[in-house]
Amino acid sequence: MASSSSYSNCPCAACKFLRRKCMPDCVFAPYFPPEEPQKFTNVHKIFGASNVSKLLNEVLPHQREDAVNSLAYEAEARIKDPVYGCVGAISVLQRQVMKLQKELDATNADLIRYTCNEMPTTTTIITTSQRGSERGTSSIAQSSSFYYHSTWNNDHP
Ligand SMILES: [Zn+2]
Repeated sequence: MASSSSYSNCPCAACKFLRRKCMPDCVFAPYFPPEEPQKFTNVHKIFGASNVSKLLNEVLPHQREDAVNSLAYEAEARIKDPVYGCVGAISVLQRQVMKLQKELDATNADLIRYTCNEMPTTTTIITTSQRGSERGTSSIAQSSSFYYHSTWNNDHP
């Protein structure tokens, strides 16, 4: 069997940072390659190297890569935004989703209104014009009567 003996020559990013010898069974080595030193620096700064190694030993081997990736993501977000971390990014995205959902609802409501309004507008025009013509004829029929008051026909007693 060919073993990777050259592994010990190039320590992983964690062991290099912690200034210790990288052993073949190093728990950090598969997830913190020497080419990405910042990844371990961030994770160590936020969570601490001993907590990370404890966590990796508790997690099943096939879940370790995902665990390290989430730790690295959270650590980077926490360094950028010390108060909210990745929760800040999540809330920004949630607000965007809510805003877009409202816009979509409003647009769908407009579409429904436009498709439904075509029939009712023509019927209302007909009814108002019919009523107007009925009123017009009835008002003209009322005429004022003249009342004559003649002063010439008055007989003096
Ligand atoms: Zn190592």
